[in-house]
Amino acid sequence: MKTLKIAIQKSGRLNEKSVELLKNCGLNFENYKSSLISPVSNFPLEILFLRDDDIPEYVQDGIADLGIVGENVICETEVDVAYLQRLGFGKCSLKLAVPNQANYQSLSDLNGKAIATSYPSILKKFLADNNIQSEIRTISGSVEISPGLGLSDAICDLVSTGGTLKSNGLKAFGDVLHSEAVLIGRKGEENDPLIIELIQRIQSVLRAKETKYVVLNVEKAHLDEIKALLPGIKSPTVVPLAEEGWVAVHTVIPEKDFWGKISQLKAAGAQGIVVMPIEKIII
Ligand code: ATP
Ligand code: ZN
Repeated sequence: MKTLKIAIQKSGRLNEKSVELLKNCGLNFENYKSSLISPVSNFPLEILFLRDDDIPEYVQDGIADLGIVGENVICETEVDVAYLQRLGFGKCSLKLAVPNQANYQSLSDLNGKAIATSYPSILKKFLADNNIQSEIRTISGSVEISPGLGLSDAICDLVSTGGTLKSNGLKAFGDVLHSEAVLIGRKGEENDPLIIELIQRIQSVLRAKETKYVVLNVEKAHLDEIKALLPGIKSPTVVPLAEEGWVAVHTVIPEKDFWGKISQLKAAGAQGIVVMPIEKIII
């Protein structure tokens, strides 16, 4: 039987979440820091632990069938791969930043200036699209210190909270790219049954993360108001309580409007609200 290979980051910002996602998909494997390859015992899959920069090319060239990597790396390596699923973690932006005291008003003020980055391809394309002529200085790490050292006038670097910019006396000056971790595969192989099975498992884990399981008690007289607030997957489950005239309602609520919904439910007469995480939602 065919065995798929999935490449994930060996260590770094995406490693832990990638491992967690695969484990939540029910895949059993050892996660030794020393191993480069780990077989999955209950699915025809092997996990390759690599530097993130190598993942897009490994997938494009067929060394791995699938990969989990940031969109920033895919764009920078300019590979031709299929985006199979956005994964909702590793969110960050590639931003331009300038020293706090710099008095730049618009992007065109970067004309003739030197910009340090580890993302020369993406930056080159962005500058060309915006008709700006700057000098790109490619550095592999610690880009944020280059203006302070007099190596550049601006930087183009990954930012998530902005803390690193702040502590280096820099301010964001424009977004170049928004990125998150994505599952990629080789073009033309999207219909492989094993790949489809794995994507479905991943989607069931992602869906579960976006929702909470909620159980609440309500007087029967208020049940219709409660039901009107709850779309559920189909409709809520309603179970009679031992106490006459009361029911328990079981449902799922999207994480994004969770607190708003809970206040509405309370106002409509819900009591004893219990909220639980969901492991998977298979539809
Ligand atoms: P490797 O050793 O695998 O080459 P790396 O040092 O290039 O690792 P990390 O810093 O671990 O990479 O980041 C991996 C990915 O995490 C980035 O490519 C990006 O997609 C994402 N990411 C999320 N937030 C940030 C952030 N604040 N800074 C940098 N990367 C971030
Ligand atoms: Zn890297």
